Amino acid sequence: MRIKSVNVIPIDLKLKEPFSIANETVDIGENVFLKIETDKDIIGWGCATPDSVTSETKETVIDCFNNIIKNILIGEDPLRINFINDILDEKLKGNPSLKAGVNMALYDILGKKADTPLYKLLGGYRDKIETSVTIGLNPVDTMVEKAKSFVSKGFTCLKVKCGMDADQDIEVVLAIRNVVGPNIKIRLDANEGYTLEKALRVVETLEKLGADVEILEQPTPAKYLYALKEVTSQCPVPIMADETVLTLRDSLKAVKMEIADMINIKLMKIGGITNAIKANTYAEIAEIPVMIGCMNESMGAMAAGVHFACAFKNVQYADLDSALDFEEDIVKGGATYKDGYVIPSDKPGLGVEVDL
Ligand SMILES: [Mg+2]
Repeated sequence: MRIKSVNVIPIDLKLKEPFSIANETVDIGENVFLKIETDKDIIGWGCATPDSVTSETKETVIDCFNNIIKNILIGEDPLRINFINDILDEKLKGNPSLKAGVNMALYDILGKKADTPLYKLLGGYRDKIETSVTIGLNPVDTMVEKAKSFVSKGFTCLKVKCGMDADQDIEVVLAIRNVVGPNIKIRLDANEGYTLEKALRVVETLEKLGADVEILEQPTPAKYLYALKEVTSQCPVPIMADETVLTLRDSLKAVKMEIADMINIKLMKIGGITNAIKANTYAEIAEIPVMIGCMNESMGAMAAGVHFACAFKNVQYADLDSALDFEEDIVKGGATYKDGYVIPSDKPGLGVEVDL
């Protein structure tokens, strides 16, 4: 089997409402679809979701794809995924979301060729995973309403954005706990917004008042590794590294230095499923659980995260909710939501249907 043609198709998906975290507000999700056609009538779909965190834009993704990656792929055997990964890394530094898009399209082809859903092809540890749903930064009442609305739809795990104003964060989390009751999981994500002292004050106050926070994600700035390590050693709640862990090397460093209790791997940061498998493997050996997260990803990209999450035991946490945030996604299939879980498609490959 050979790759016959490739296409790059940018689609801006409008969010139902603007989404704010500690360092930015967005109202669209820039997704760049990659279509890889083979001479055996199998089409692989991938999707890159560039982000400031990955130092990419829609324009860099399209430009690098057309000028560098296209020529590498045409005529190549799409099942030599590791070889293609290696060549891409050699010819193009960085650009992890673009590489993730290509990598998942190749895995989609592999799954279709094997007539097997990808999560089973990768090892099939579980057939669904509980996912958090994210509450962006807003006035307290709005965030509480959002929490109520998610819980009424059956979600069991909330990820509450924080990091802008420690006092408001404490107020919001207590108010949310009050309305959702004790059985809903509450995770916090500060997106680098706290100092060591603020992080400890927020968590210790919430613990004292019985808010029962499950995880605090990336409390301190990404580049201050020792600040994060210090929060991890002092904080009564498990700390997850996200922005600190971008590349494979970052994740190895995080594991070796024990700077966090758990790490958040996103396919867009780490460059795809192949690299995510490597990062998860050494995290698992070090007994550090992994969360699979997402950017503002269409289901075209997020489905790959769902399949990856379900394949491996050590991927114990999922934050795979971005596809719910768009007014209209152009992708059908990939995964579905039920009772707080996200369930990968049982169709071959990623199971996404894209009409492009
Ligand atoms: Mg995060």
